[in-house]
Amino acid sequence: MFDILIIGSGPSGMTSAIYGARSGLTVGIIERGAPGGAMVTTASIENYPGFSKIDGATLSMNMFEQMTNLGVTFIGEEVLSIKKDNDIFTVETNYAKYDSKTVIIATGTMQKKLSVSGEDKFTGRGISWCAICDGSFYKGKDVIVVGGGNSALEEAMYLASICKTVYIIHRRDEFRADSMLVNKAKEFDNIKYILSSTIKEFLGDKKLEKVLITNLKTNEDYLMDIDGVFEFIGQTPNTNWLSELGIVGENGFIKVNSEFETTVKGLFACGDVIDKGVRQIATAVSDGAISALSASHYIK
Ligand SMILES: Cc1cc2nc3c(=O)[nH]c(=O)nc-3n(C[C@H](O)[C@H](O)[C@H](O)COP(=O)(O)OP(=O)(O)OC[C@H]3O[C@@H](n4cnc5c(N)ncnc54)[C@H](O)[C@@H]3O)c2cc1C
Repeated sequence: MFDILIIGSGPSGMTSAIYGARSGLTVGIIERGAPGGAMVTTASIENYPGFSKIDGATLSMNMFEQMTNLGVTFIGEEVLSIKKDNDIFTVETNYAKYDSKTVIIATGTMQKKLSVSGEDKFTGRGISWCAICDGSFYKGKDVIVVGGGNSALEEAMYLASICKTVYIIHRRDEFRADSMLVNKAKEFDNIKYILSSTIKEFLGDKKLEKVLITNLKTNEDYLMDIDGVFEFIGQTPNTNWLSELGIVGENGFIKVNSEFETTVKGLFACGDVIDKGVRQIATAVSDGAISALSASHYIK
């Protein structure tokens, strides 16, 4: 029986684990992928206090070591459901069942897809959602980055150091990203901009060869030859397995109060998976710390 069982080992879940263990509680954390969550696939992080620049894999391993050195049990499984009976939660994974007095959901988000024709066919054969994982396949080649937020600009700059040309395609003619990032990207000679436009279709034979682009101002369509496309157009919460608990809002994100409690007593949520405005590592770790202290308070 755990005191706190955390689902998801991104920065939010791992911070919860660190705070829970340091409160003297028995803590377990269940992760279906690599520890670090969205951080692991981030090439360069430049806005997390204490590190002017750090790669996501190193920051992830630092947090993971700090957490496991405190005696947190790491379980590499996928959570399928949570049930509550007589004040005890049972968390079922693809391998086993675990009991806990409290549960913290920190399952984050997944990258949204454009959902246009050809996307499924060319996933992994020209279309990617991870520059650090797949960027090296496009060394010296031409790629497109879709999106206008911080992630899109950061990943475009990373790809610009590997690829011949990076075209940023964005629906609007202004960027959502921080102005500092927008200005920094403009310093790269091999980053080009295709604004007020979107991809309508992915085309090719065995691998991606062309995209059909629509100019949203003129409604004009045209084909462009391309080697790879990286999509960074936003996030979808990892909550589809939670619908029975009634804690998920209409937008799919989990609703919590200022103590990160859901409407189910003893069940907390933190990080990118909750309904909030800013989704960053700094806000994820803050949520994680508070949710663990709230869980500790609830137990005691
Ligand atoms: C490309 C990219 C670049 C970014 N760059 C920056 C940056 O430079 N600076 C910054 O501050 N932020 C950046 N972010 C945002 C930042 O990574 C996130 O805000 C942060 O990782 C959120 O942490 P989290 O712990 O809430 O969720 P996540 O990091 O998403 O972690 C959630 C974890 O839960 C696991 N999980 C999900 N469902 C289950 C399940 N059913 N069972 C078990 N495990 C499950 C997932 O595998 C994942 O490991 C970036 C994001 C992306 C995508």
